[in-house]
Amino acid sequence: MSFTAAIIGRPNVGKSTLFNRLVGSKIALVDDTPGVTRDRRPGEARIGDLYFTIIDTAGLEEADPASLEGRMRAQTEMAIAEADVSLFLIDARVGVTPIDEHFAELLRRVGKPVILVANKAEGKVGEAGVMEAYSLGFGEPVALSAEHGVGMADLFAALLPFEQLEEALEDEGEGDDDVIDPSALEEEVEQVDPTRPIKVAIVGRPNAGKSTLINTMLGEDRMLTGPEAGITRDSISVDWEWQGRPIKLFDTAGMRKKARVEEKLEKLSVGDALRSIRFAEVVVLTLDVTMPFEKQDLQIADLVAREGRALVIALNKWDLIEDRQKAMAELREMAERLLPQVRGVPLVPISGLTGAGIDKLMAEVLRVYATWNRRVPTAALNRWLASVLEHHPPPAVSGRRIKLRYMTQPKARPPTFVAFCSRPEALPESYTRYLLNGLRETFKLDAVPLRLTLRKGE
Ligand code: GDP
Ligand code: GDP
Repeated sequence: MSFTAAIIGRPNVGKSTLFNRLVGSKIALVDDTPGVTRDRRPGEARIGDLYFTIIDTAGLEEADPASLEGRMRAQTEMAIAEADVSLFLIDARVGVTPIDEHFAELLRRVGKPVILVANKAEGKVGEAGVMEAYSLGFGEPVALSAEHGVGMADLFAALLPFEQLEEALEDEGEGDDDVIDPSALEEEVEQVDPTRPIKVAIVGRPNAGKSTLINTMLGEDRMLTGPEAGITRDSISVDWEWQGRPIKLFDTAGMRKKARVEEKLEKLSVGDALRSIRFAEVVVLTLDVTMPFEKQDLQIADLVAREGRALVIALNKWDLIEDRQKAMAELREMAERLLPQVRGVPLVPISGLTGAGIDKLMAEVLRVYATWNRRVPTAALNRWLASVLEHHPPPAVSGRRIKLRYMTQPKARPPTFVAFCSRPEALPESYTRYLLNGLRETFKLDAVPLRLTLRKGE
């Protein structure tokens, strides 16, 4: 089994061109009859020795201009839902348009992995557009020319982690726990089994102190190092125990660095971080407090949120800080401002070198793990929803009120809510955010990403 990628983007950015390049000439294009909607077309794609399935959303614009917006959205949402990763195309020669931003918002809302692709990047004209693409908040764009086949190696590199991930997940027998089962809409309390190891990934920029931290944690208790079955070759897991709780620690980039000491890793590849993050339930983002919240730190935190994992931030090298009170106030302010997607994330000062703060760190790991597994009973949710609707109902859009009827949490890990709504497509993003903030505050869902899906229902 290989992974599935969806090609997403507004009309004319080059989706069909990329699809054809990836699928090659062996697949005849289907259904170009005017008036017939081309739905999402799966194709067998290949770049080098990487084989995967690709879903194209191109061609919808020809179907029915009147309902273009709604159709595109629905098709796009379905494609995103089916895929493991979305290739989000923009036109580098045009730059970022409001419609691109609209797609970005949609992708963010779904919260699955996104590879941003700046297409038509050949030549000078494309350069500005590639830079501009950063503003969409999906990290570094892959600069591509689908028409001329330039940049395919970078696209290959960006997609490779998904293949490795797929293999690893199959070996682990996981990968099915991201699905919302619509029939599971009844109350159920997620049990946290204290004998099952909690999977914790230690991630961070090179030199943040990950290896030092892990070595101090393990001390003499190091039970096992080295690649294990089911784990991607170059990621490492170590079994550990903290106050009687079994913990499985994951570390990718740090161990890799140790394996090749002479090779200074200037860049942390997002693929590495992504791999660790996807294996983990709780991610400990290790910051070097002498250089906190740099771009890569924020990128990793954002990945954690998008992958739906619980997050704890370790403020490492705290031993180097003199005015600790002042530093703490500044760091808190930065976290609130720069990481709104994981509001309330615990910031734990530690020294990996001396071991100070590690107990507090682990206590927070267990706490956010419990939150991540929490289920809010349906009755409590709907009591809360009733009071929200009374005091701050959804606005009227095009003269009609939007009705919210009922809410439930079908799934934990991370907490995922469904709200039934008379016109889901019309409910403003700001109101969804308002609901999520309210849920977070009322039910004390700190430090974990929350999901809210709107379903049509009267
Ligand atoms: P779609 O609507 O997103 O499927 O876009 P198409 O694949 O139909 O492409 C729209 C237009 O952009 C066509 O005229 C393509 O030839 C052109 N195009 C696609 N990729 C590139 C590229 O990499 N460079 C340039 N210059 N043009 C491209
Ligand atoms: P990694 O690349 O994230 O695995 O980082 P390392 O564990 O190799 O640490 C990078 C450097 O930071 C090394 O020189 C460590 O000795 C130093 N370091 C790590 N943790 C601490 C700490 O808590 N305090 C201080 N002062 N230095 C630390």
